[in-house]
Amino acid sequence: MGIRPLLPQRSRSRRRVPGLVASLQSPPTPHRPRRPDPGLTRSQPHGELQLEVTKLSVEFDLPGGKKVVAVDDVSFTVGRGQTIGLVGESGSGKSTIGRAVLGMTPKVIGEISYGRDSEAVSGSRSKDVGENQMVFQDPYGSLNPRWKIRRSLAEPLVARGVARAQIREMVVEAIESVGLNADHLDRLPHEFSGGQRQRISIARALIARPRVLVADEAVSALDVSVQAQVLNSMKRLQRDHDVATIFISHDLSVIQFIADRVIVLYFGQIMEEAPVKVAFEAPRHPYTVALKSALPSVHVQETEKIRLTGEPPLQHTRVTGCPFASRCPFVLDQCRTDRPELKILPDSSRVACHRVAADGTAMYA
Ligand code: SF4
Repeated sequence: MGIRPLLPQRSRSRRRVPGLVASLQSPPTPHRPRRPDPGLTRSQPHGELQLEVTKLSVEFDLPGGKKVVAVDDVSFTVGRGQTIGLVGESGSGKSTIGRAVLGMTPKVIGEISYGRDSEAVSGSRSKDVGENQMVFQDPYGSLNPRWKIRRSLAEPLVARGVARAQIREMVVEAIESVGLNADHLDRLPHEFSGGQRQRISIARALIARPRVLVADEAVSALDVSVQAQVLNSMKRLQRDHDVATIFISHDLSVIQFIADRVIVLYFGQIMEEAPVKVAFEAPRHPYTVALKSALPSVHVQETEKIRLTGEPPLQHTRVTGCPFASRCPFVLDQCRTDRPELKILPDSSRVACHRVAADGTAMYA
C-alpha cells in the first residue's frame, strides 16, 4: 500500500524573475514537460522539470579571513520521478549541494528553482525549501528518540494543517508502505533495528509528498543486506510518488543501483555527468574511471584501471586549471592552467576534461 495523496495542491503561481528562469516559467500547457535551454551546460531531466540548479556556488568562511569554496559553479536539473546520484570523495561538495538545495547553507550564490516556481537563493532562503525533505545517514536526525513513531510520522502533516482523521489514516499507510505495520506506530525509535529506523525515516520524509528529496549517505551505516531492503523501499516509494531525488553517496555501487543519472564531483566541481549505465560501462573522465577501478564488485581490466595517487588541492586554495591535475596520470601542461569546460556530449553526458573530445572519445586510453 502506498502513501496516498495528501495535501491541497500546491500553488503553481508564476513569479516574475529575470533571465533564464523567467523563460522557463512560461509553459504553454500545465502538464507539458519543459525542456531546458540546450545551450546551457546542465543535465537533461527525463520528465517534467522538478528541480533546476543553476551556477550554484557555496563558500564557507575560515578563521583568519580565508574562504573555502565547497561548491563551485555547479548546474544540473532533476525531473519528476528521477534520481540523480551525487558521488565523490569526502570534501567533493556533494553533501553541501544537498544542503544548499534544501536551504540549509549560508552564503549561497546561484539560483535554485523547484517545479514551475523559482527563487534566486543568493543571500536568502527560498520559501519553497520547506516542501522538500532530507533523509540523513543517522535516522535519529529525523526521529525524535522520545516520540513514538506515530507522532514522528504525523508531525509534518500537523504542520501543514491536515485534518486529524486523515492524518490517522495516512500514518498507517505510511508505515505499511515501508514494510512495517500499525503495531509499530506505538513504539519508540530505539525499539527498531537500524534498517527499520531508516525505512521509517524514509516514510516520514515522503509522507508530506515533497517535491524534492535529498538522501545523504542514507544507507552508509547499514549492513549490505539491510542496505538492499532500504534501497528497494526507497526506490519504489520515490517512483510511486514521482519525487525528484538527489541521492548522495561515496559508494558508487549504491548509486549504480538507485540512480538514473550520476554526477561525479571533485573539489566542488562537476567532473562528469552521465546516465548511470554510461557512467559504469564507459566512463570518460579519468576520475570516474578511478572511482570505478576501486570497486571490488566491478570487473575492470588491470590495464584499464586508474589508481589514485597524490593529494587533492587544499580546500582553501583557488585552482586555476583542472582540480584533478595533481592526481591525474594523464595530466597535460594545459591542465594546470586552464579549467576544462564542462562539454555536453552527443549522448547528453557532460565531461570536464581536456583529453575528452567533443564526440566523447577519451584520448588517453
Ligand atoms: S583535464 Fe587534464 S588533469 Fe584534468 S582529468 Fe583531464 S587530463 Fe586529467
